[in-house]
Amino acid sequence: MRDQFLPFSAPTIEDDEINEVVDSLKSGWITTGPKVKRFEEEFKAYVGADFAVPLSSATAGQHLIMLALKIGAGDEVITTPMTFASTVSTIVLAGATPVLVDIEPGTLNIDVTKIREKITSRTRAIVPVHFAGQPCDLDPIFQLAREFNLTVIEDAAHAVGTEYKGKRIGSLASVSIFSFHPNKNMTTGEGGMLCTPDEELAEQISLLKFHGMNREAWKRFAAAGTPGYDIILPGFKYNMMDIQAALGIHQLPKLDGFIRRRTQIADCYNREFADLAELALPKLAPYEQRHAWHLYTPLIRIEKLTINRDQFMEELKGRNIGSGLHYKAIHHHAWYREHLPLPPGALPNADYASDRILSLPLFPKMTDEDVTHVVAAVKDVIMKNRR
Ligand SMILES: *Cc1c(COP(=O)(O)O)cnc(C)c1O
Repeated sequence: MRDQFLPFSAPTIEDDEINEVVDSLKSGWITTGPKVKRFEEEFKAYVGADFAVPLSSATAGQHLIMLALKIGAGDEVITTPMTFASTVSTIVLAGATPVLVDIEPGTLNIDVTKIREKITSRTRAIVPVHFAGQPCDLDPIFQLAREFNLTVIEDAAHAVGTEYKGKRIGSLASVSIFSFHPNKNMTTGEGGMLCTPDEELAEQISLLKFHGMNREAWKRFAAAGTPGYDIILPGFKYNMMDIQAALGIHQLPKLDGFIRRRTQIADCYNREFADLAELALPKLAPYEQRHAWHLYTPLIRIEKLTINRDQFMEELKGRNIGSGLHYKAIHHHAWYREHLPLPPGALPNADYASDRILSLPLFPKMTDEDVTHVVAAVKDVIMKNRR
């Protein structure tokens, strides 16, 4: 057994990131400033967006887009149950009602064939989540959005570098929101970016993210600037700092390499686990795409084992292998069971995945030996707990 614990995720932080942060600290300019501007420009160019707004997190972007689009009481927003809490909680916090559509069993992405039946006169937006870094089938979603005049707000937290039919996520939808949390494919510590082709919307988000102030602080304090500002509307404090962007500036050029390594590891898992009846492996959708492999999430066929998923994760931990849970379905969480109760069996594919899913270690710094250890541990847990 390996002697050191292997986490399910870890960021790759090298000297260039560290030196850039130190440079910011020594420069005397720590918060939003020239490095955030540079990161914004470079990120925008990478994903092919017209406008990009750097933020303190993806959750901040998910909150602000609801406010900017004036989505609130009486409105409905369609999304997936197989996602992180913030995708749905920001809809609730805006006063709107989340409407959950079941997932496809293979990709665990929202089932686009089941969206139409959930659209009502109150529906304002569709929030697809590119689960694990694999793009949702966007064309039918865009078609529905045109037909019913809805906004498509991509939760692209897993999808930095993901491509759909030859185009990067960030260049396709009316809104794409990325996360740079340390577990994500690239990191700024905490951080997020909202991309859009709509200049007015980008301006509104920029205002809302920083006190509704009509000029950014660093421009006011810079030598050439004038100190005046005006509060155009009440806003939040959701800006990204230069010490965060300092990381992003050096992570972004490494992203394609990170994704190549993630893909190699995922391919290796797929080969090694192909013959195990106890696992249902992630499936690729048939359209042209680049999967960013943010997560590797097999389903444990608990019917074929004497242990459940949580016990499976404990067994891995006992072998010094970490794993993650992405995700317990939203409607299985306490608040949603109470406030958004669904009839039993309303979302059967999400229910099935929620009880069986786990995330195996997947990050660029993993060595081939680490991968071998994960494979051996998974096979060992299965062998020892087969029915
Ligand atoms: C991480 C994540 C978020 C939230 O991102 P933060 O930057 O941590 O706010 C939202 N949606 C999904 C699917 C995520 O994985």
